[in-house]
Amino acid sequence: MSNRYDIAIVGAGIIGAAVLHEYQKRNPQHKVHLVEKEPVSASHQTGRNSGVIHAGVYYPPGSLKSQYCRQGLEDTFAWCKDNHLPYEQCGKLIVATSYDEVSRLDTLYANCETNDLNPQRVSHSMLQNMEPNITGKEAILVNATGITDYTAITQSLLASATKSANVSVQYSAQVHAIDEYDECVSLVTDINGIKRRIEADRVICCAGVYADDLIMKQGITPNFKIVPFKGEYYRLSPKFDNVSKKLIYPVPNPEMPFLGVHLTKMIGGYTTVGPNAVLAPGREAYDALPSYSEMFRTLSYQGLWRLLWQFKSSVLCEVKSSVSQAYYASLVQKYCPSITPEDFHYYRPGIRAQAVSKTGKMMGDFEFLSTDRVLHVGNAPSPAATSAMPIARAIIDEMDAS
Ligand SMILES: Cc1cc2nc3c(=O)[nH]c(=O)nc-3n(C[C@H](O)[C@H](O)[C@H](O)COP(=O)(O)OP(=O)(O)OC[C@H]3O[C@@H](n4cnc5c(N)ncnc54)[C@H](O)[C@@H]3O)c2cc1C
Repeated sequence: MSNRYDIAIVGAGIIGAAVLHEYQKRNPQHKVHLVEKEPVSASHQTGRNSGVIHAGVYYPPGSLKSQYCRQGLEDTFAWCKDNHLPYEQCGKLIVATSYDEVSRLDTLYANCETNDLNPQRVSHSMLQNMEPNITGKEAILVNATGITDYTAITQSLLASATKSANVSVQYSAQVHAIDEYDECVSLVTDINGIKRRIEADRVICCAGVYADDLIMKQGITPNFKIVPFKGEYYRLSPKFDNVSKKLIYPVPNPEMPFLGVHLTKMIGGYTTVGPNAVLAPGREAYDALPSYSEMFRTLSYQGLWRLLWQFKSSVLCEVKSSVSQAYYASLVQKYCPSITPEDFHYYRPGIRAQAVSKTGKMMGDFEFLSTDRVLHVGNAPSPAATSAMPIARAIIDEMDAS
């Protein structure tokens, strides 16, 4: 079999899968190859997230996040319906538990309105009727939000694309080198210690937490590094399986770059709390030993220290939530007082790929970096699972236009 393709894609997370599917749909006669270093798809962020189909509550109007999330919500529900995959449009409540948070709800409400989400303001008594196990002073209800299984979506996108004889997927193959020439791009992959060279007219890298690594493998120094932030979850005891009808989110702390621990109904009928956000001791160091070389790489980055300094008080709280279940539980008890640390059970953590600039700024929006023949997805944190299909369309549009 020839090793020359029209396009090669790196990474079988939901973005790589959506790009493969979109490209194949538009170019059924082209030869397409996807390379993934793990033995199965969705092994990292895609298979370890909260499973929420976001509606776009938090994202600045006009940002790529707000546009793609809104379109992605529709696309994700439609894909699930058409392919008989699990989903539920259960809605989400953002619950204020103090007067300070009530005043911050105004800003969120205005953002929801600008993003056309049709939010509803929920009073204390309405909240009690709606969700008897949840306490709060006031809330915002966004009915559009839902839940799904992003691993199942990724698998079905790949299955749909690989029905074509022109599409192939190679698992357990890690990309080690990317060389761009005038007439093609060459990728060197390692499959169980055996090096293989493939060539393609174009390459699209969707490598998640290794996005900056692949950019550097092409000989380019990006103006950011990916910092791995671990999100720890707990699965709640079965008596909490139906603790709420909707997803329950706290009002995000403006000091904090993440959304705060939330109560999430999961496909499968159980409930999780999480995720917090602590520095991960390696890009894929979930529960196992740390990766010292990756820790060194992250800890020697000036941008990280500038970021941590900026959020120093929140950093301490996040670390506290990681070492103390009682403290973690206290964050949830603010809006669901009946949950205790004894109700916490192990649940797989996830590691977020977050681009951080040298100046210590978390890059807020989706970011792409391209050369003549290679496009890298540089920053695709949440809500990129929701937004994967619009991201894929935008990538292929850009390639078609260049
Ligand atoms: C804790 C957590 C909660 C989240 N919650 C939500 C949510 O509720 N809703 C939402 O919309 N988003 C959520 N997100 C974000 C969402 O999961 C990610 O934005 C999305 O999955 C990114 O997809 P991806 O394909 O870019 O990355 P990934 O899923 O990480 O896939 C990247 C793939 O590239 C492969 N790869 C990397 N390097 C190489 C190489 N050199 N050679 C070959 N293959 C390589 C990896 O093995 C991996 O399979 C969450 C993320 C986390 C971590």
